[in-house]
Amino acid sequence: MGGHSARRQAIEAVVKYTAPITTFAADEAPGELFGLNVFSRAEMQKRLPKGVFKSVLATIEHGEPLDPTVADIVASAMKDWAIEKGASHYAHVFYPLTGLTAEKHDSFLEPDGSGSSIAEFAGKTLVQGEPDASSFPNGGLRQTFEARGYTAWDVTSPAYILENPNGNTLCIPTVFISWTGEALDKKTPLLRSQQAMNVQAQRVLSLFGHTDIDSVVSFAGAEQEYFLIDRNFYFARPDLMASARTLLGAPAPKGQEFDDHYFGAIPERVLAFMLEAERELFKLGIPAKTRHNEVAPGQFEIAPVFEKANIATDHQQLLMVTLRRVAEKYGMECLLHEKPFAGVNGSGKHVNFSIGNNNQGNLLNPGDTPHENAQFLVFCAAVIRAVHLHGGLLRAVVASASNDHRLGANEAPPAIISIFLGEQLADVFDQVAKGGATASKEKGTLIIGVDTLPDLPSDPGDRNRTSPFAFTGNRFEFRAAGSSQSIAGPMVAINTIMAESLDYIATELESSIEAGIEFNAAVQKVLEQIITDHGAVVFNGDGYSDDWQVEAAARGLKNLRTTVDALPELDTPETKALFAKYGVLNERELASRYEVYLEQYELSVHVEARSLVEVATTVVLPAAIRYQGELASTAASLAAVGIEGDTTLLGAVTAAIGELTTAAAALGAALAHEHSGSTYDGAVYACTSLLPAMADVRAAADTLETLVADDLWPLPTYQEMLFIL
Ligand code: ADP
Ligand code: MG
Repeated sequence: MGGHSARRQAIEAVVKYTAPITTFAADEAPGELFGLNVFSRAEMQKRLPKGVFKSVLATIEHGEPLDPTVADIVASAMKDWAIEKGASHYAHVFYPLTGLTAEKHDSFLEPDGSGSSIAEFAGKTLVQGEPDASSFPNGGLRQTFEARGYTAWDVTSPAYILENPNGNTLCIPTVFISWTGEALDKKTPLLRSQQAMNVQAQRVLSLFGHTDIDSVVSFAGAEQEYFLIDRNFYFARPDLMASARTLLGAPAPKGQEFDDHYFGAIPERVLAFMLEAERELFKLGIPAKTRHNEVAPGQFEIAPVFEKANIATDHQQLLMVTLRRVAEKYGMECLLHEKPFAGVNGSGKHVNFSIGNNNQGNLLNPGDTPHENAQFLVFCAAVIRAVHLHGGLLRAVVASASNDHRLGANEAPPAIISIFLGEQLADVFDQVAKGGATASKEKGTLIIGVDTLPDLPSDPGDRNRTSPFAFTGNRFEFRAAGSSQSIAGPMVAINTIMAESLDYIATELESSIEAGIEFNAAVQKVLEQIITDHGAVVFNGDGYSDDWQVEAAARGLKNLRTTVDALPELDTPETKALFAKYGVLNERELASRYEVYLEQYELSVHVEARSLVEVATTVVLPAAIRYQGELASTAASLAAVGIEGDTTLLGAVTAAIGELTTAAAALGAALAHEHSGSTYDGAVYACTSLLPAMADVRAAADTLETLVADDLWPLPTYQEMLFIL
């Protein structure tokens, strides 16, 4: 392997690298590790007076309103615990619309007026904070001069300690709201949507005759995919540093075609990283469970065990931060971008979800009895109806500049949102549609057809990786979410559309019963109605095929290919009415999100375009021109001694240099073009003008990469980045 000196040095550094051996503290034996740094329920029970503990637990477990009088006592116990854990500071952690995690740190220590300091942390400091929030995107919800935003303690997500060699910090998960109480973050609507779904799910459960109904929550388990590359390569790629993906780079001779990476042996350095990352996650009470190699070289996956959606969402954010931090320690960069390498499978974040509670269990789990199965089918039907009515919204909540590279690219589900039920469940719904064909009318059994069917197996065995929304035995898996995104958006959408569907079902059942229809018949009727009206969203075939694009269009399903096609779904009368009706987002809050996400799209494409122009002009062209000069002088020296050299290569290099120069100039001009329209117009411009201009630059640059002498090529190649670890 040759190489430009900087690139050569990077390779040598990687080859010489030895991973650090971490010695772990004795009190951190694997068995003791889980939740070590969490102000857990057990810790609270130990430290809080009984009454206070019970009251806090009622809020956490059963969604009861927080009793404000307990705050001081909890704050004091939390502070003592944190100080014992070596914390000197505390931080309200919140989740702004950027999708990232934000923290405002404060010291526990306050001067006591006599030259020393005391540890202060009152209830009001726990309950409410006031970060200077003027630079978080708010999409018009706040003027910058009215910078005030408040953070408020989310009791249901446990506080934890973030360790740092120079001191620890007590982190308190919070919501982030404006002084008018409008949501500036991703957590507030998630909690609201949870509440809305609970109300409607309980209505349905009581119609099924349950009396001991606990609050219903959604559960989420997110499978996180990511790439690891050596940091020496990362720092030698300005495009990766600026935009988190490679904006140019010719394909490696060997890619993923042999499937030899998938579930292959994990490289030792990566395993060392994974082991430490898992330890860190365990300490934070994050139940990281599976780890394996993914399809692409350099790609891996980690999946924590599912938890209540709100906690899973916070944990997911922490997980991303932890992966990046620990990777650095092992000299690697963890790439969470959806498509860091063109032509190589991208990264997603499959969101597995179910709904349920302690008393009635997982409501998406087929039961053993006909009665349970009827209830299961009703909840499944709610999902089918919700996804059919709001497929556009589900597409919108996974829309981003980065995820656009992945969706519909024959590696991830298409941009068409459909549901995979598996053969057996699809068959059950077919029978339901035909009026419950095999119904038995025996007394005491349900006459909806299901009672004569065999028990549904809890794992249907068949999997369909091409479906964006798949039933996988006792849960649904939303596969369109991107690896870098917060799962809050998808969970808000899922909870809210489920609330609406369950509301519809409860209302239908109630009115049937009022009209004197027997309960079992009422259930059959509503199931039949739903599968007839919304069965078009069920698709068990190959989502990657071209036929599906045609068939989906015939079925009236939306195919929203890009972010600018998808985001306007947030702006439709249906979406506005949906979020307003269930108190999840009012019209202003929703409009602000639409605005912020459009703006983020536009900004990301602009950053990419600027970075690409820079790399093309200052890195690729100079290398190509040097090589051109070398070829030209060789030709000239040969000619001087009467040898006619072959100038094909010189011609090809010269032509590609011309193309790159023209394309880079065109991209520069496109970037300089001022548009005076709305944020939406700006996003459309980025999509329809900048991206194609970027593709031209890339094509010319990648051609040069295949022509220029290896020892002159300045950028780490795909082969190096993906295979040298
Ligand atoms: P696969 O790769 O086969 O889809 P994984 O084991 O990698 O499966 O990930 C499955 C994810 O689904 C895990 O996060 C797991 O905890 C989660 N999960 C399992 N059961 C449920 C459930 N009932 N509700 C929500 N998530 C679940
Ligand atoms: Mg999966």
